[in-house]
Amino acid sequence: VVLARGVRMSYGDTEVLRGVDFSVAPGEVSCVIGPSGSGKSTFLRCVNGLEPVLGGSLRVLGEEVGHTLRDGKYHPWTPKRFAEFRTKIGMVFQRFNLFAHQSALDNVACAPIHVAGMPGDQARELAMEHLARVGLADHAHKRPHQLSGGQQQRVAIARALAMSPTLMLFDEPTSALDPELVDEVLEVMKKLALDGMTMVVVTHEIGFAREVGDTLTFFDEGVVVEQGPPADLLAASKHPRTKAFLSSVL
Ligand code: ATP
Ligand code: MG
Repeated sequence: VVLARGVRMSYGDTEVLRGVDFSVAPGEVSCVIGPSGSGKSTFLRCVNGLEPVLGGSLRVLGEEVGHTLRDGKYHPWTPKRFAEFRTKIGMVFQRFNLFAHQSALDNVACAPIHVAGMPGDQARELAMEHLARVGLADHAHKRPHQLSGGQQQRVAIARALAMSPTLMLFDEPTSALDPELVDEVLEVMKKLALDGMTMVVVTHEIGFAREVGDTLTFFDEGVVVEQGPPADLLAASKHPRTKAFLSSVL
């Protein structure tokens, strides 16, 4: 589903991704950890075309999302092509970014109506199903400020699911939550994983990575230091940088 080889990306003169090798197979849950500033968010943004890849190769959902010209530079797809493509990828951020003036239901129904052109009634019915899926059927008519942080994040997940994505990207979905609200969001993600969704999850929740993840990837300074089964990495990483990071979070 995602295959990155030597992916490079810079902000101005600062090289942020310095040759990332990374892969996720269909139905896999791939958890990503690493120090702040190591390029985790940037890599996710490259996968859905929010940042341009400058070198290497990147396949997402079976398609190379750009091409390398003779000058050796990578030329990503146009923003227009990415915009269409991105409807197949669900993204959930640390901050929920819900529309404050709309109900949970309308937040979830929004993309099906405005992006997919679905009739309103049908979209609201679909939205209701997705809200039920994240355990919020009884809160469908509340606005974001009437919901807890955990509930808002579950609405954000339902909203991403409403477009029937084949890949879900999560960027620290529980980092902004009070500790007692983390589990309800992780439970929803776990259910999604059990349903067979392909997921890339940047997270500091090592317990989730161990229990739900098929692979764990350690980013550091713009490269993937190692990728493997979570139990192996957590119990017996051979890389000093991974070990040092893990001892700081465990
Ligand atoms: P965190 O764990 O803090 O979220 P991260 O691994 O997600 O970190 P990124 O957000 O990908 O790291 O950032 C990688 C590097 O790119 C950092 O050094 C950051 O300062 C830099 N960076 C990120 N966004 C921008 C931007 N819009 N302009 C310039 N530099 C940026
Ligand atoms: Mg980040």
